[in-house]
Amino acid sequence: MRIVLLGPPGAGKGTQAVKLVEKYNIPHISTGDIFRKNLKEKTELGLKAKEYMDKGLLVPDELVVDIVKDRLVEEDCAKGFLLDGFPRTVDQADALETELSKLGIKLDGVINIEVEDEVLIGRLTGRLVCRKCGATYHSKFNKPKAENVCDLCGGELYTRDDDKEETVKNRLLVYKNQTQPLIDYYTKKGMLKTIDGEADTDTVFAEICKALE
Ligand SMILES: [Zn+2]
Repeated sequence: MRIVLLGPPGAGKGTQAVKLVEKYNIPHISTGDIFRKNLKEKTELGLKAKEYMDKGLLVPDELVVDIVKDRLVEEDCAKGFLLDGFPRTVDQADALETELSKLGIKLDGVINIEVEDEVLIGRLTGRLVCRKCGATYHSKFNKPKAENVCDLCGGELYTRDDDKEETVKNRLLVYKNQTQPLIDYYTKKGMLKTIDGEADTDTVFAEICKALE
């Protein structure tokens, strides 16, 4: 099973990725992870990428594609893979298709987990963190026993800047602007499978599996 997984922050993509990887026995390939691995092992591609990153520049599509391509020919990808965080642009999607066709394979589907902004904001803004021990809570889904007090150590709970509404709204906007062209691209190709991500985890997972089969 060869899958690309798309979804905004807060859509539950990580949880679904874990379940998909287990069900189909395929590796979870996130560009972040393979970049870190290439940097750590100081591979030629990793060193090239580092040159850009050190200058504060975006790693060019071509290089990102090369790094992903290298990963896709590894043995554990024989049965398929789950791509997460790649492709990010239409150029990358085109390059992916070209590379896969060279290998004589194609994607089985592009899963897009969709959740209304309001729901995402609700999920992403309620996080509370303990100042003392770092334990995390949620103001709706995982409340501490006493308001703003850590169950574990009695420390004070606070909202990190990343979890504030303005920051979250901005993150969602950036995601949308970046991803919409990709969604249009895969829609035109008839490959996009949109899944309602507002249901519970198991329902969402069942819908994804149904869409893939
Ligand atoms: Zn604590």
